[in-house]
Amino acid sequence: VFVIGVLALQGGFIEHVNLVRKAAESLTNKSVEIKAIEVRTVEQLDSCDALIIPGGESTTISFVAAQSGLLEPLRDFVKVQKKPVWGTCAGLILLSNEANATKKGGQELIGGLGVRVHRNHFGRQIESFQVPLDLPFLGPDAQFPGVFIRAPVVEEVLATEGVTVLAKLPGRVDKAQSGVSQATVKDNSGDIIAVRQGNVMGTSFHPELTTDARIHAWWLGEVIAARSA
Ligand code: GLN
Repeated sequence: VFVIGVLALQGGFIEHVNLVRKAAESLTNKSVEIKAIEVRTVEQLDSCDALIIPGGESTTISFVAAQSGLLEPLRDFVKVQKKPVWGTCAGLILLSNEANATKKGGQELIGGLGVRVHRNHFGRQIESFQVPLDLPFLGPDAQFPGVFIRAPVVEEVLATEGVTVLAKLPGRVDKAQSGVSQATVKDNSGDIIAVRQGNVMGTSFHPELTTDARIHAWWLGEVIAARSA
């Protein structure tokens, strides 16, 4: 049995749990049993083989994690036990070694990815958008609906080795196509929106806010492969 935890302190955790279950059904290897659980305590975290940190508000998740005594156990899970961890949006921020906070005070990060993220890179809530993404790791022609909500991007890769850029924004985000109404849309082509360093993966966007379970299925495959390696 593989226990997949979803950090359930704030944000889109139920959506991730649902997509993990959907992805598990699509796995070809039916001898593998996947169990998705919500994680709010150290005991629950300890029972997990892998963890997803959802989108939401990274300062809130970090604050509640600290209050719950989860911050150090999360750092241990990621960096000492080196279990597979995937963060989406706020989760990517928390898994980064550095964040360029928009307000003073910042927040405690978990770390694990040798990158610096820029929070709220595209602006405010109203500047949220959706754009089709090329995700080479899903296949040569794979397109995926990219949902960006006050999303961060990776503005700098800090580690000299080991960080793989998995995806970048394809080009200027088209206002009409993306549904953005008032935003000043910059040319964001080439912005880094998915990275991986060993056991840690981060994406700027929210697959959990779609019904498309392909990234979850791909990641479960990586989780299964990591244990048998
Ligand atoms: N801007 C949020 C943060 O800083 C992330 C937004 C999201 O997860 N949709 O945490």
